[in-house]
Amino acid sequence: MELRNKQVLVLGAGISGIAVAKVAKALGAKVTISDNKAIESLGHIADTLNQLGIELIPGTQSDILLQNMDMVIPSPGISIYHHLLQQAIKQRIEVISEVEFAYRLTEVPFIAITGTNGKTTTTTLVGEILKNADRNIVLGGNIGIPLSEAVYNLPDADFVVAEISSFQLEGVQQFRPYVCAVLNLTPDHIDRHGNVAVYQEMKERIFAQQYREDYLILNYDDEIVRGMADRATANVVFFSNTHILEEGAFLRGGYLVLKLAGQEEIICAATEMGIRGGHNVQNALAACAIAKICNVPTEIMAATLRSFKGVEHRLELVGEQRGVKFYNDSKATNPESSIVALQAFTEPVVLIAGGRDKGTDLGPLMTEIKGHVRGLILLGEAAERFEQAAKDFCISEIHRVAELKDAVLLAARVAKPGESVLLSPACASYDMFSNFEERGRDFKRLVTELRR
Ligand code: ADP
Repeated sequence: MELRNKQVLVLGAGISGIAVAKVAKALGAKVTISDNKAIESLGHIADTLNQLGIELIPGTQSDILLQNMDMVIPSPGISIYHHLLQQAIKQRIEVISEVEFAYRLTEVPFIAITGTNGKTTTTTLVGEILKNADRNIVLGGNIGIPLSEAVYNLPDADFVVAEISSFQLEGVQQFRPYVCAVLNLTPDHIDRHGNVAVYQEMKERIFAQQYREDYLILNYDDEIVRGMADRATANVVFFSNTHILEEGAFLRGGYLVLKLAGQEEIICAATEMGIRGGHNVQNALAACAIAKICNVPTEIMAATLRSFKGVEHRLELVGEQRGVKFYNDSKATNPESSIVALQAFTEPVVLIAGGRDKGTDLGPLMTEIKGHVRGLILLGEAAERFEQAAKDFCISEIHRVAELKDAVLLAARVAKPGESVLLSPACASYDMFSNFEERGRDFKRLVTELRR
């Protein structure tokens, strides 16, 4: 991408915006970053950018910022409906997302993973499998590592493995991954996209530019995702953990199986995997389909599935005390995530839930709780409503506590050997913590302190 002497406006001075600005600057562009925060709350960022020769304009974002600009790159948190972006489009200034920017930086083939749930787990797993197969990879995207920086710093990689959110797909144009996967699609982020149709349309952009020689991995069990095959140009490979497929990646008799071009290979048993739950079998099947296209031998996939212990805060095994296992699933910030977590357990569970309530229907969650949970410990702003819903479902053992510390102590007391304690809040964390990571780390510390 030729950026010499081009004027680039980056919106948002967060991790992604700063990474983009640095790379654009290194490529010879004249770069300005605009952030609607006041200079006081941008702290030392201003100095750092200044030293790099990047102009930072804090505060009000008026149309004047667009003057003489050749390109605008918004951070993923900024909606395409932002007045400045709409204005830029009107003025025919190119608006591209960070993913598109990263894509234009390199010739390295992209593996791109999207979906409502499971993106981080699947992306990480694909990264691990490829690394174990001695492939040189760049990993980034929505996963906390800005793609542009990662791509720029490693130009000779074999693959770029990218986690892509629907937000990042708002600003893609030429983006053409060699392999991409759509894991599932349930209504989410509707506040930003307006309606489910737009959300789906955004997700479909991931494969819109693919050629016939590319690959599209789709979840056969998700009706909407399965239907995407009708609009695909690339080779479609399905995965399923409920259907035995003629071709694709699927579960048969408890074994993960790959069948491509008529050749069948058994990877391993689902019970051998280091991560648990049917949802993780789906993630693993998607990851293996991707790995197969990258010519990774089945033994390496199997070895990685056995050793991969998952991503922090997602059904993460923290430890075992007197025959009770403790799991941190702090990332479960909505009831759907806690439902899939509970479905991963065959033994009775003592569940710690609650936090900032999202106000959604609790019926399906309570049905799952009734089936799996022997003790329910509630905390946070949601405790009241959750308790009422649990009572309506005749769930008998319900406790209310004030702090996470009390919840952990009580859970350790209540759980019997052979049972598991699960923190899967089904709620956001902001009533008591800065984010779900802090909540999860606190939980892990408290569990570790139980041993003392
Ligand atoms: P994302 O990056 O899309 O948020 P993660 O891998 O971080 O996904 O997983 C977040 C939560 O979503 C998990 O804790 C789990 O409850 C749920 N989840 C993960 N994979 C799936 C899946 N394939 N289908 C449904 N739910 C899933």
